[in-house]
Amino acid sequence: MDPFATSSSAAQPDRFGFLHVDLNSFFASVEQQLHPEYRGKPLAVVPSFADTTVAIAASYEAKALGIKTGTRVADMKRICPDIIMVHGSHTTYAEYSHKIAAAVELACPVAHTPSIDEMVCQLIGREQEPPRARQIALNIKQSIRDNVGETLRCSIGMAPNRYLAKIASDMQKPDGLIGLLPSQLPRSLLQLELRDLPGVGARTEAMLIGKGITTMPQLLALDREGMHKLWNSVWGDRLYHWLHGHSTGDDGAPLPNEMQKSLGHSHVMGPAHRTPEGAWAVAHKLLHKAAMRLRMEKLCAGSMSLTIRYQLNREQVDRATMPEVADARPGAAAKKGNADKPRKIRQHTSGIKHDGWGMEARFPTCQDTLSLLETLGKIWSQQPTGPDYETPFFVGLAMGRLINESEQQPTLFADPDNRNELSRTLDKLNLKYGHTTLHFAGMLPARDSAPTRIAFTQIPVQYGVDYM
Ligand SMILES: [Mg+2]
Repeated sequence: MDPFATSSSAAQPDRFGFLHVDLNSFFASVEQQLHPEYRGKPLAVVPSFADTTVAIAASYEAKALGIKTGTRVADMKRICPDIIMVHGSHTTYAEYSHKIAAAVELACPVAHTPSIDEMVCQLIGREQEPPRARQIALNIKQSIRDNVGETLRCSIGMAPNRYLAKIASDMQKPDGLIGLLPSQLPRSLLQLELRDLPGVGARTEAMLIGKGITTMPQLLALDREGMHKLWNSVWGDRLYHWLHGHSTGDDGAPLPNEMQKSLGHSHVMGPAHRTPEGAWAVAHKLLHKAAMRLRMEKLCAGSMSLTIRYQLNREQVDRATMPEVADARPGAAAKKGNADKPRKIRQHTSGIKHDGWGMEARFPTCQDTLSLLETLGKIWSQQPTGPDYETPFFVGLAMGRLINESEQQPTLFADPDNRNELSRTLDKLNLKYGHTTLHFAGMLPARDSAPTRIAFTQIPVQYGVDYM
């Protein structure tokens, strides 16, 4: 049997769900657009002209000579004494990025902008038919040329999901146009290297090699269960679906730097919000985002961990780090209070000295906001109290023990308060209106603590961009 034959081509008509637009040699092309005298010549964009710095971008003419991002200025001069070196201007590039997005919009709405030189369009209805999708891609290229400039070229990838569209945009440069048809998957990916997969960095590649997977054919020969075991997490399942061209509902998920085992977010609060109420508001907001993302990615969580860091003032730090004076009297009870506990004072990257607290709770797997909020409330009430715990400045919330929702055991009692239905309604409204139209504060049973009164009316849930 051909292990790469598509199993469900009948169920997957040849349609493209996403276009990924990637500008070629973006910074260098902008410089060539602004300066016609640089066109057709090797050019590098550099942060400074010192010999020890490196190129942050290279034109196609420079790339042909072997000069690329990361090449040292001294080496560039040796390879090509005539190379044009330009001091980069981020402001200019950002302006061009906006102009390009506007030009793309003339051909197709832009759904996501993952970086300064990438835009993603989601295709709907008949746009998904390959000939029409191809025409849209050609229109995008023409629109950029006509409205922004002739030196700005892009490679466009068309695929059934966003992950594959990104891969396709990387397969032909410059001025590429590649479509990955569902009926040709995963065969059309056999030539790639593992490192060509977004999310597979050096660390993940080492893990794969350690487990005996060194080539794409080996990876693609695995079934979903094999992929799950390989990653020992739902990342394997997700990658399996992506690589086989399925639309899994997590098409818009941000591509991770490295495949992760939990789903979570954290937030550093501004000085004005460093209060217990402010921290609760942040935790509440993080929970809504995480819960919505679980449902989008068709996952259920079986654990939640909360981390809170509390800012300490000078006096508190001194007290905590002073050598302990032991009470040597026989039978002396351990004194209450944090000052006598051996404590580790840590320093946040922002310079804030802090103490931390965290807790993980396990529960029957679920994905509905109301159940998750109840768990959060229970964890919250376990926080330490006292003067050292009054200035929280960091809140992190992560969902763990993730499983695919299809593996969720059906409960004996069928969703008595309609929690799942309620959550789905919430997601639909949030997606439609781009912010939390409905929130749960008013639906929760009255609690004595103040936190539930804090309502978030502006939770930015632009599915698929960046959740923080
Ligand atoms: Mg690019």
